[in-house]
Amino acid sequence: MSKKVRAAIRCPQCSHETETDLYRTIWVEYPDNRALIFNDAINVVTCSRCKLSQRVDFPFLATNVQRHIAVWYEPYPDEQIDIDVNLYRRQFGPDHFFAKAPRIREWEAFKQTLVKLEAAAPQPRAAAPRSSREAPQTGQAPKSARRSSLLADLWGRVWTAARGH
Ligand SMILES: [Zn+2]
Repeated sequence: MSKKVRAAIRCPQCSHETETDLYRTIWVEYPDNRALIFNDAINVVTCSRCKLSQRVDFPFLATNVQRHIAVWYEPYPDEQIDIDVNLYRRQFGPDHFFAKAPRIREWEAFKQTLVKLEAAAPQPRAAAPRSSREAPQTGQAPKSARRSSLLADLWGRVWTAARGH
């Protein structure tokens, strides 16, 4: 699952604070999620007083686990990402795509990096055309399911530690 965190965002126009949920991770194998990024609509907050909309420069990780893609948007240096990367190295090994995910500062460069990684990554088996007579290829599913639940568990631990309870 994509992960969100609660935050209070101050409006640059009227200084009112609006509570919102910001994406910390987003699963871009889902077209709606991917569109949020490429439509510049991710982590957009509308001020509850003056209705000004702004995209919040909040660091997040975009992943497509099936295609082994992971890339950080990191508009300012974020120590929590260092912690997360160390955790991934220990958990998955230094060569795992989570451990090696590039950290991109500029928004447009972040989107371009995601496009490049997608172009270079192999297509998932599910996307390959297959005849209705062919048996569905279920061999990969249990493995990726296990990895996903492991990651969700990992995130839970990271954020519990970060919040101090
Ligand atoms: Zn406002």
